[in-house]
Amino acid sequence: MKATPFALALSLSLLGLSGAYTVQKGDTLYSLARANNLKVEDLRRLNNLSSDSLAVGQVLRLSASEALPPAAPNPGTPVPVLPKTSAPKSSTQPPATRQPTKPPPAPSGFTLTLPSAFSPVPSPAIPAPPKPAPASAAPESPPRPPVMVRVGSSFEVGGVRVTLPEQLSMGDAFSVKLTGKGAQGAAVRFPSELGEDVRQPDETLTPYGAAGVYVVPGRVVLGKTTPVIVEIVVGGEVVRGIIPLRPKPGGPVVQLHLSPRVAAKLTDPGKAAEDAMVNKAYLSRGLPIWTKPFAAAVPNPPIPGSFGQSRTYTPGSPVTYHYGADYPAKLGTPIRAVNDGTVVIAGLYPVRGGLVMIDHGGGVSSLYFHQSKILVKVGQSVKRGDVIGQVGTTGISEGPHLHLEIRVRGEATQPADWINRLWP
Ligand SMILES: [Zn+2]
Repeated sequence: MKATPFALALSLSLLGLSGAYTVQKGDTLYSLARANNLKVEDLRRLNNLSSDSLAVGQVLRLSASEALPPAAPNPGTPVPVLPKTSAPKSSTQPPATRQPTKPPPAPSGFTLTLPSAFSPVPSPAIPAPPKPAPASAAPESPPRPPVMVRVGSSFEVGGVRVTLPEQLSMGDAFSVKLTGKGAQGAAVRFPSELGEDVRQPDETLTPYGAAGVYVVPGRVVLGKTTPVIVEIVVGGEVVRGIIPLRPKPGGPVVQLHLSPRVAAKLTDPGKAAEDAMVNKAYLSRGLPIWTKPFAAAVPNPPIPGSFGQSRTYTPGSPVTYHYGADYPAKLGTPIRAVNDGTVVIAGLYPVRGGLVMIDHGGGVSSLYFHQSKILVKVGQSVKRGDVIGQVGTTGISEGPHLHLEIRVRGEATQPADWINRLWP
């Protein structure tokens, strides 16, 4: 890993160190040595320079008493960490906006060092974490290493190469790819999920994989508008990557006018138990079972725009997202498992109707609603392409169709993005 001059400059200014000199346009080692009564040799030695060329923004020590630049890539060097109270959460901008207008030549993945309290996304909905015990009651815990922020879709953390998507949209599933020694032992979180309407936000996840390639699947919850922040911890290094979000204007709210018979199911006394059962199933975190690309559940394409549509179900009811894609199909059309997995729900429920849920492992599940006939049992292993049931119009449905959901740790992602693709 190499810290760029720009990174050093930013690190110094963020950590409030003074006394070091920031290289300006036109500066040379010779001019700086002359201006500071130093020899060129001294400047080289003080700053471990291997070349005499300087970059604008580069930070140089001008005397031996000054602190070493903190972003120097030396994991053994203790680095000062600002107290938590010093991070002005409310005024902190997402680091993506900190990109300089005129950066010096820097490789992708330049580095900002930030105090551990830095939180790029304000999360007003989340209560403050409990205060630590008074210092007198417990020995001081070791300071958390500073959080580095890397911009770009590929960078290293503690010798592990991380690859992120360049950009995302709401409703996307994606993967954080980790390669190299130590990838398996990395811990991955999505701090940007704090404050979002999302199940198990900011969970600490362990990558899975083999042959040196490990992944953590991610999800961009419907309604999200801010960048996705992913935090990766390898050894003593903590790095946050930023994935910008493509603006995606929501379509008009579709007002469904359910017939009284179907609308009554919205207030069915069994609805709460049904939701609780599905929510519980979303908590499964086994290893991925699938090895092949995901396959279509029915031959027909989905209704365009049906996934993620904003809807009201009855006049005046709250606007909710439609978490699946709707595939029109004749009554009785066979429904096939989109990939290998274990059946975790199979039965008739008030809202989802004839429902099968398959746990594919890795926190990924597929759900098939409104079936007229269910042909699998809970606990059964299924293979990709196995017939699991038939298209129907049970539950909250006004005509035969398959409502297909593919969820990552309980959050809905665009099913079409999974089909015919070896994922992640
Ligand atoms: Zn639907």
